[in-house]
Amino acid sequence: MGSIAENLKRVREELAEACTRAGRKPEDVALMAVSKMHPAGAILEAYEAGQRLFGENRVQEAQSKLPATAGLAGLELHLIGPLQNNKTAKAAEVFHAVDSLDELKTARRLNDAAASLGKTIPVLIEVKLSPEDTKHGIAASGLTELLDGIASLEHILAAGLMTVPPLEGDPRPYFAELRRLRDLHAAAYPRLTQLSMGMSGDFQVAVEEGSTCVRVGTAIFGKRI
Ligand SMILES: *Cc1c(COP(=O)(O)O)cnc(C)c1O
Repeated sequence: MGSIAENLKRVREELAEACTRAGRKPEDVALMAVSKMHPAGAILEAYEAGQRLFGENRVQEAQSKLPATAGLAGLELHLIGPLQNNKTAKAAEVFHAVDSLDELKTARRLNDAAASLGKTIPVLIEVKLSPEDTKHGIAASGLTELLDGIASLEHILAAGLMTVPPLEGDPRPYFAELRRLRDLHAAAYPRLTQLSMGMSGDFQVAVEEGSTCVRVGTAIFGKRI
């Protein structure tokens, strides 16, 4: 693998090509650089190469990198890993958005934390479409209830859905299902527009299925230790 800057350039090109093949505009699909388990220096390198949107899996890990990254103008940091109820206050401070919300109780706590900070936090609902126990997210059958609950919270805004398909097998049906769920609920919730899906190994497929944000770690930063 090349340097982070070289990797980013290659991933951007591949993403743009995937958009063209799918008849989509490259500016309609955001590239998130997933920096989990890589040092703050890796974020700085990607930032130098023009990357602004980053994803981290853990509240504490993201917080530990803040001294190095907090001053970077325009840097946008999203939580993409499980959010524990006792971490909502910290998460509201550290992240611009939470892309992995899957419980009303957590949503309420995050809302309270956002309110006391005087901000509104965009969230994506993580949907568990894979039968694997290791995957997080709400079952598709619980989505309506969760969206209804979040709609009454004034300091968080449901902006879309997120999913992680199973490690093995064809991810396409899972991406297609997330899109179907988004379309289904967009009638009642017109602000539910985003689809966060696709990672290093499958972002091209995700783009074909309507992804609006691909989360790429390994292809940009290399293997995690
Ligand atoms: C780690 C992670 C990614 C990035 O995965 P890669 O295969 O390294 O691109 C994307 N999304 C989530 C939720 C992750 O935890």
